[in-house]
Amino acid sequence: MSATLIKGKPIAERIRAQVAEDVAAIGHIGLVTVLVGDDPASDVYIRLKHKAAVAAGIDATDLRLPEETTESELLAKVEELDADPQVDAILVQLPLPKQIDEAKVIRALAPAKDVDGFHPINAGQLYLGEPTLVPATPRGVMAMLAEHEVELSGAHAVVIGRSAIVGKPMAHLLLQQNATVTICHSRTKDLARHTLGADVLVAAVGVPGMVTPDMVKPGGVVIDVGINRTDDGIVGDVDPGAADVAGHLTPVPGGVGPMTIACLLENAVRCARYRRGELAYPA
Ligand code: NDP
Repeated sequence: MSATLIKGKPIAERIRAQVAEDVAAIGHIGLVTVLVGDDPASDVYIRLKHKAAVAAGIDATDLRLPEETTESELLAKVEELDADPQVDAILVQLPLPKQIDEAKVIRALAPAKDVDGFHPINAGQLYLGEPTLVPATPRGVMAMLAEHEVELSGAHAVVIGRSAIVGKPMAHLLLQQNATVTICHSRTKDLARHTLGADVLVAAVGVPGMVTPDMVKPGGVVIDVGINRTDDGIVGDVDPGAADVAGHLTPVPGGVGPMTIACLLENAVRCARYRRGELAYPA
């Protein structure tokens, strides 16, 4: 292996320590996480987020609603939280049960309390290059690239995946830093032709090991966002053999994962500052 590993944990720990200082300075930050139903993966994510929030001194409420909750019941709950002055930040864990329209629920969130940065207003502001609430995972990736002083201006960045949660915001953040960005997806023809030219390659697909070493530019920076549960445990979207070709690589686990939670907490601080007028919300 020749690649330098970009580990998320030490960077995430520093961010979390800063969040704890910010929380102490602000006095109170109210975060409500909402989980509808009992999806086991969502339960794990919510527990991790909740634990990290409490450790940082955030006043976090872990709200659980039954699987059979109706769309109008959830919308009423979101409206109540929007109006609650004790609540700075709201997170509705996705996916929601099938009787609930996720887009409707996300639109119901007060944009300045939308700690995940999924509301169309926040997505639109990111598109316009305004400072706003940006989804935590791509924000975490940008922090990792900055930490390792990866030159983005003029670099060719290739993002595999175009979800609203990872791929699209990732591409916009890279573009803001003056990278030349290619977005690949399931209909992309000859994926390797694109990835081989990538100075920075971000894989956010959900297919174990789909980025093989022969798809990686020698010396390139490879960010593996994938979290895939397999019989061999949790693996990424990038074959670990890519470490023999890449210059930098994020491990899975221990790479992007810890950054997501740390950046979510940072977003909670941002929400609190918006509400207190310390930061101007751009909408
Ligand atoms: P989605 O399923 O929403 O999106 C996957 C994307 O990959 C889609 O755009 C899809 O294309 C594309 N894709 C699927 N198959 C291929 C293929 N064979 N070739 C090229 N592109 C393909 O997933 P998410 O964006 O939510 O998550 C992606 C991965 O990141 C998952 O493993 C998830 O668990 C992980 N994740 C990790 C986080 C972390 O904290 N580390 C946080 C969030 C997600 P199309 O649009 O055409 O369907």
